[in-house]
Amino acid sequence: MSDPFTGVQARRPRPQGLNAEFYERAATGRLHLQQCADCGHFQHPPRQLCRACTSGALSWVPVEGIGALYSWTTTHFPFDPGWAPAIPYLTGVIELPQGVRLVAALSAEVTPHIGAAVRVALSRLDDDSVLLYLRSAE
Ligand SMILES: [Zn+2]
Repeated sequence: MSDPFTGVQARRPRPQGLNAEFYERAATGRLHLQQCADCGHFQHPPRQLCRACTSGALSWVPVEGIGALYSWTTTHFPFDPGWAPAIPYLTGVIELPQGVRLVAALSAEVTPHIGAAVRVALSRLDDDSVLLYLRSAE
């Protein structure tokens, strides 16, 4: 199934630094999160130091990307005209079992409610861009 945002020609961010590393791993088709080797803490967005213990011993760990819908919003007026064909569109926040929350586009196939089972899907838009969106996990 193609993602629900095919054809959207919005400006795309060009991640840098640790954010670029996050998206490079996402481009492999698997969601990765930073995990601290010293205390086991997962974190997102990525940082140079562990947010829990300040260790610099962080590594990227593949995760399943299945969790619960924590929150969502509906956008009716696009800030970027490239998103106009998708209006209205949903943006959601998934809470993963690792205690991490991610913001992503929310597929229209999901009937949003707090706690809905959703999973992170990764859609490669071009050589440099990956879109994260949430699909139903039920
Ligand atoms: Zn730590």
